Amino acid sequence: MILYKNEGRLETPPKIIIEEFVVNRSTLERALGLSEPWKVVKDEFSAKERRLDITIDFERGSIFHCPDCGAVSKAYDSVMKTWRHLNFFQHETYLHARVPRVECSKGCGIKTIEVPWARQRSGFTLLFESLVMTLAREMPVAAIASLIGEHDTRIWRILHYYVEEARKEADHGAVKRVGMDETSSRKGHNYITLFYDLDQRQLLFGATGRKQGVVSEFADDLEAHGGDRNQIEQTCSDMWPAYINGVRDCFPNAAITFDRFHIMRILNAAVDQVRREESKNRKELKRTRYLWLKNPTRLTSKQKQTMDDLSTHNLKTAKAYQMRLTFQEFFTVPDRQSGEAFLQRWYTWVSHSQLEPIIEAAETIKKHWEGILNWLDSHISTGILEGFNSLIQAAKARARGYRTNRNLITMAYLIAGNLDYGLPT
Ligand SMILES: [Zn+2]
Repeated sequence: MILYKNEGRLETPPKIIIEEFVVNRSTLERALGLSEPWKVVKDEFSAKERRLDITIDFERGSIFHCPDCGAVSKAYDSVMKTWRHLNFFQHETYLHARVPRVECSKGCGIKTIEVPWARQRSGFTLLFESLVMTLAREMPVAAIASLIGEHDTRIWRILHYYVEEARKEADHGAVKRVGMDETSSRKGHNYITLFYDLDQRQLLFGATGRKQGVVSEFADDLEAHGGDRNQIEQTCSDMWPAYINGVRDCFPNAAITFDRFHIMRILNAAVDQVRREESKNRKELKRTRYLWLKNPTRLTSKQKQTMDDLSTHNLKTAKAYQMRLTFQEFFTVPDRQSGEAFLQRWYTWVSHSQLEPIIEAAETIKKHWEGILNWLDSHISTGILEGFNSLIQAAKARARGYRTNRNLITMAYLIAGNLDYGLPT
């Protein structure tokens, strides 16, 4: 809002005096985006109540349009409405207006007209809602609610509305490569599944749960947004059976690539299991857990020293670690043929190791052979999703959890959806 310092040169009569600032009504009208036939007719400022009330009205004899069909229609009556607007400094600001109802000349009936500063049935102006949408990406909804003095359910209603409206306009016609990942909504219990466009790097769809049905929900949603299930060429996920079966059912032309980071996580867990069992009799393994989870290049010089010392002890853990490190080289082989030979050699080596946890991991890998080899063709991973996932988890931590999955999914769209809300800024 443009302010004019009171220098005694503002002689245009209707003006609001706030402390040493003066704003005239035409400035207010411009700030509110008002145009014919709307005008500011009254403003009341209460320093004591820290409140500014602005009354807007339309000019007598104005012409209105039916909100449904656009036909020029006569005013029928009007209803008084109030909207919360952006604070004017620390002063809560409200707009008041009598909003005409028209009797549609084409027979739609009696309709409340749309006002330019707010959407139908909202108690907030568009600018106020725009502020809420901006804040919601940075701070918890509960904090916004207390900052602006509104109940958080009203804030959630704004967020849900804009996300749903923006999603209606979203075009998924070009989607060919999809990544999917789960994220927990409340500690350990509830899950949502998020589907991303790996090329545009944006969230396409969020579903409650992680059962097989979520993939077909996604396929339906994709087609509702101009996409085509037959056009999906690649998917990337972990080895969760519900996702694998869902993709096989819904995307007939998709090759599944298992995410390399999830595969490495399985091997890391196996190494850790070997270490835990062995450390019962080998005191030197105490407090070494994190060394075995790292790659040698990531070790500090002190950690490197410890590793070098341990390497002379003929430890099972060190052997398991070597198997994990060797597996990693799979992701550097040049083509599928050498990849297959590599996996075969690695599997033979590991399966003769007598290290149960690693053998188990190798069996899992063998069972998912094709999807692991597909990496050599597709080179896709859900790495970008991990980035979004950590933003979503951070928002969740700030909010100390979300009451509902719907709230979490809406927050995920805000963070990763790249949606166009069409709001004034
Ligand atoms: Zn009409």
